[in-house]
Amino acid sequence: MATFAGQIQLAYPTSQDLKDRRWIFVSYDRFTDRTGPIAEQPASETGIVIVESTAKAHRRPYHKKKLVLLISNMRHFALEQAARGCKVIYHFSEHSHAQALLQLQRDLPLPELTMMQAAERELRIDMEAAMQSGLKMKLVPDTSWLSTTEDFVAVFGSYKAGRSYVMDRFYRVQRQQTGILMDKGKPIGGKFSFDAENRKPYKGQPRIPTPPTFAPDLVTKEVIALVQKTCPHHFGSIENFDSPTTQQDADAAWAFALEHLLPHFGPYEDAMRDDELQLFHSRLSGLINLGRLLPAQMIADVERACTEDRIPLASAEGFIRQILGWREFMRHLHQQTDGYRLLADTVAQEEGSMPQQDPYAGATPSALSASLPLPAAYWGVTSGLHCLDTVVAQVVEEGWSHHITRLMVLSNLATLCGFSPRQLTDWFWFAYVDAYDWVVETNVLGMATYADGGLTATKPYVSGAAYINKMSNFCGHCEYDPKRSTGEGSCPFTALYWIFLERNEAVLGNNFRLQMPYTTLRRKSPTELVQLRARADEAITHLQRLPHPKYEISTPQSN
Ligand SMILES: Cc1cc2nc3c(=O)[nH]c(=O)nc-3n(C[C@H](O)[C@H](O)[C@H](O)COP(=O)(O)OP(=O)(O)OC[C@H]3O[C@@H](n4cnc5c(N)ncnc54)[C@H](O)[C@@H]3O)c2cc1C
Ligand code: SF4
Repeated sequence: MATFAGQIQLAYPTSQDLKDRRWIFVSYDRFTDRTGPIAEQPASETGIVIVESTAKAHRRPYHKKKLVLLISNMRHFALEQAARGCKVIYHFSEHSHAQALLQLQRDLPLPELTMMQAAERELRIDMEAAMQSGLKMKLVPDTSWLSTTEDFVAVFGSYKAGRSYVMDRFYRVQRQQTGILMDKGKPIGGKFSFDAENRKPYKGQPRIPTPPTFAPDLVTKEVIALVQKTCPHHFGSIENFDSPTTQQDADAAWAFALEHLLPHFGPYEDAMRDDELQLFHSRLSGLINLGRLLPAQMIADVERACTEDRIPLASAEGFIRQILGWREFMRHLHQQTDGYRLLADTVAQEEGSMPQQDPYAGATPSALSASLPLPAAYWGVTSGLHCLDTVVAQVVEEGWSHHITRLMVLSNLATLCGFSPRQLTDWFWFAYVDAYDWVVETNVLGMATYADGGLTATKPYVSGAAYINKMSNFCGHCEYDPKRSTGEGSCPFTALYWIFLERNEAVLGNNFRLQMPYTTLRRKSPTELVQLRARADEAITHLQRLPHPKYEISTPQSN
C-alpha cells in the first residue's frame, strides 16, 4: 500500500479541518469535481471522504479489470482532489460504504456529510439503513444526470403494473425540453431519430482508427497487485490493463472518440466483426458510469461538432440518443420499478409466495418462464458457435463488448434457449466493467430478454442466423452453416429461433410485431417442425453439457 496510502495520508485533515470544511462523501461511481456539492465551494473549504470497501468488491466475482478500473480511478481521484487543496479521508474498510461511514463519524468525530443521491439501488438501501442507525448524511440531487424523476413521471406517470414504457416517447420530450439538436421547436434534420439509416454491416471501410491506451502508473500497478492477490478466482483476465484511470486520461479518451470514432458511429452502430471488436463505438461507458465523463459535456461537444460539420447528423443524433435517451430512461425505469422488484412482487403475491428477504438478491421476473442454467460457454468454455465464443473471449479479456454483441449474440442466444434471465443478468453484472444495478438489470431483464413481459421492449430482441450473418463476419469463420436450419452442421440459432416462437406462442402469438414470423411458423410442415425441434434440443443439450468452471464469492458478505 506504500505508494498510494503514503501519498494520500498527506491530505488527512486536522481536527480544525473537520470543523471548518464542508465534508462530502464521494461514492464509488461519482469521481468528478465538475458538478455537484464538491464544485460548490473552493477546494480550500472542501473535505472529501472516500471508502474503499472490501465488502462491495467481493459481493460478486467481478471481472478483475472492473475492480482495477474502479479502484484505480477512486485512488487517482483522491490524489487529484488532494493536489488541488481538498482534505481527504480515504478509508479502507471491510464493511459496506454506509457502515464504514457510520463508524468513521462516531470515531473521529466527523460532522454531517453531504452526498449526491446514489445511482445504485444497492448503495441507496445501505445509506438509508445507516441513516436510520444515526449516520448524519444530507442527500442532495445528483447533478450529473440530465433529467429528473419528475421529468420521467411527467411522461409516463408513476409506475403501475401492466404499463409499458417506450424510450422514444421519453427521448422526444427530453429533446424538446433541453433544446438539444432542435431548431425553433423542431428536430434538426426533420426527424427525431435516424435509427433506420444506422444499420450497415462493416465491410472494411472506412478504416477504424486505433484508440489510445494508457499504461498503468505506480498507483494502478499497486491496485493490479491487490486484485491479483485478493481476487485471483474472480472472472476475467487482468493482463494488459490499459484503461484511463485519471481525469486527464479520461478526457483524452473522450477527445479521441469525438474526433475519430463518432463521425462513423451511426451507420455502423449495429455491425459486428471478429477482427474489429470495437468498431466505431466509444467504449466509454465504464468511465461515464464512474462519473469521469459527464453526459452534459459529451452531448455539448457532439452537438458543437455536428454544427461544425465534423460529425454527420445521423451519427451525432445516434450517439446523443444513447446518452440522453437510453441511459437516462434505463436509470428512471430501474428506480420506478425498484429494480423490477415491483414486477417480481406482483408475481410473488399472485402466487402467494413471500417476497425475497436478501436486500441484494436481484428481482427474478421471467415472463417467458425461462429457467435453464447459464452454460459454461459464458465463462469462456469453447462452444463451437463462433459468434458466441468470439464475444465471450472478448468479455473475458476486456470486460466489455459493444451493444449489438450483448443484445444479438449473448442475450439472443440465452433468450432463444430459455436460460434464466436472472443468471444472465448476474453474469453481465460481474463480467462487464460498466455494469451497475440500474443499468445492467434494465438492459438485461428489460431490453434484452423480455423477462419483464414487454415493459421495456415491445417484442423480444431475437433472431436466427440470418441477422447475425448479415450484420457480421462471424458466420464465415464458423463450423456451422448459417444458411441451413436443420441437420448436422446447421446453425443452431435458426432452429432455436423457430422453436422459441413455438414454445412461447401462448405469450407472444398475438404480438402485433411478431405476426410475420408466426405466419411463417404456422406454414411449416410437421416434418420440418420435428427436425427443427430436434436441432434446437441438440443445441441446448450441447451447451448445457459443457463443463462449468467454479467462481466463488471471495469473503463472507459483510455489511
Ligand atoms: C444485454 C445488455 C446489457 C447491457 N449492460 C450495460 C451495462 O451494464 N452498463 C452500461 O453502461 N450499458 C449497458 N448496456 C448498454 C450498452 O450496450 C452499453 O452502454 C454500450 O455498449 C457501452 O459501450 P460504449 O461506451 O462503446 O457505447 P456507445 O455505443 O459508444 O454508446 C455511447 C453511450 O451511450 C450509453 N448507452 C448506450 N446504450 C445504452 C443503454 N441501452 N443503456 C444505458 N446506456 C446506454 C452508454 O453510456 C454508452 O457509453 C447493455 C446493453 C445490453 C443489450
Ligand atoms: S453460423 Fe450460427 S453459430 Fe456460427 S457464427 Fe453464424 S450465427 Fe453464430
